[in-house]
Amino acid sequence: MNPPSFYLQLVNPKHPVLWRPSENQLCAFHPGFPHILLEACAARSLAALLEELDAFGEIVPVSGYRPRAMQQEIWDDTVQKQGLDYARQYVAIPGCSEHETGLAIDLAANRPEIDFICPDFPWDGIFGKFRWMAPEYGWILRYLAGKEEITRISSEPWHFRYVGTPHARILSDRGLVLEEYLAGDPGLPLWNGPQPGKISGQETQPAPGRRL
Ligand SMILES: [Zn+2]
Repeated sequence: MNPPSFYLQLVNPKHPVLWRPSENQLCAFHPGFPHILLEACAARSLAALLEELDAFGEIVPVSGYRPRAMQQEIWDDTVQKQGLDYARQYVAIPGCSEHETGLAIDLAANRPEIDFICPDFPWDGIFGKFRWMAPEYGWILRYLAGKEEITRISSEPWHFRYVGTPHARILSDRGLVLEEYLAGDPGLPLWNGPQPGKISGQETQPAPGRRL
């Protein structure tokens, strides 16, 4: 069993991965996708959510846990094929990817052609229902449009992050990204990273609604 802080760890260009899952903490969330691994709680929770939505077959995983070496390969390959600007927008720097924690997954609509870097995960239908239900299962849409200045990653409608409950519900209800959630409440007992106000090297304000 991981400590609660494991699930709330902040990973971004300024905060490299501190906790990596050991091999026995990883598992496939569905036997149909044996190579897509997640941290065990995240895997169980994702499986339960897809089961509840009866979405197996319509929603498919593209990428889950990545060892650092794999993140490096993806970075190098993307830089080579699509240039540094594109890589910076959509691929996390090796050592700073949530995929290295086993707590993140990229999902796609089940179509013949799936873009590995920017998979298509529409906003309507079963995909919209997935986003709506995800917080109940501890998952959040991690990179929100309009929050790029804070996350330093472009909006990614396909990238979901497991933070557990009730955090996912609170984040989602308040429209916060993880950086804001962790910076906005210095009393949060689970936070053991840099002091609030220093995230991304800038002064940060508590998000509106945080003190309600
Ligand atoms: Zn991703």
